[in-house]
Amino acid sequence: MRTPLIAGNWKMYTTPSEASAWMRGLLEDLQSQDVSNVELVLNVPATHLAVLAPIVADTAVALGGQDVSAHAEGAYTGELSAEMLVDAGARYCVVGHSERRQYHHEDDALVRGKVLACMNGGLVPILCVGELESERDAGEHEATVIRQLTGALDGVEISKSEDLVVAYEPVWAIGTGKTATADDAQAMGAVVRSFLKGRYGPLADGIRILYGGSMKPSNADELLAKADVDGGLIGGASLKRDQYLAIAAAAPR
Ligand code: PEP
Repeated sequence: MRTPLIAGNWKMYTTPSEASAWMRGLLEDLQSQDVSNVELVLNVPATHLAVLAPIVADTAVALGGQDVSAHAEGAYTGELSAEMLVDAGARYCVVGHSERRQYHHEDDALVRGKVLACMNGGLVPILCVGELESERDAGEHEATVIRQLTGALDGVEISKSEDLVVAYEPVWAIGTGKTATADDAQAMGAVVRSFLKGRYGPLADGIRILYGGSMKPSNADELLAKADVDGGLIGGASLKRDQYLAIAAAAPR
């Protein structure tokens, strides 16, 4: 059985000091709430990692970044390498989020470079894929996601299932309050799984596939109950501790 991964994506919200207070509160809450059946990850702004790392050390909470350079080092002003993120405390990193694809023009080739940079630098990539509303309306959602996976994972090898996480995030559901139905999320999770099976064989059975797009306590139960929804990538609701924990509590045991 795949351990559900409940991954927050804080986007560009909170300061490091606000985040510290939030995290201390979460650890306190975890003393009275048993979510030991899930893995908790918060993908925070890079400035927060080194501040939060000592707070979450030796706890069940892991940290992740939200973006990484495709380069290992060099004259790339403003960029952060995988090694820097790992040294600051990250274990995971979101790669190819639709906001990066949209606002920073990241294409599948660049996303592939970032997946490889994560793997070479010791981070587990949370590779985001998902269709635009116009692509869904045109019936092109499956083809879009397969194209994104093909580009991002071209020549990318893994030696164990834990080396990769994929997040299916329909772009029209991110931050909009619109959620894919649980059946649609499952159907796309199955499409992703089938692609991964073709690419990685039996290892694909252990790769976690997350759903992302306005996941919240009121819809988490239904989404997380689906066979190919192994957790969530959660934006807005992950900034509210009670909502993040309520989503974690909705994961199957
Ligand atoms: C996200 O940021 O990946 C996301 C899914 O956001 P939200 O949950 O706010 O839709």
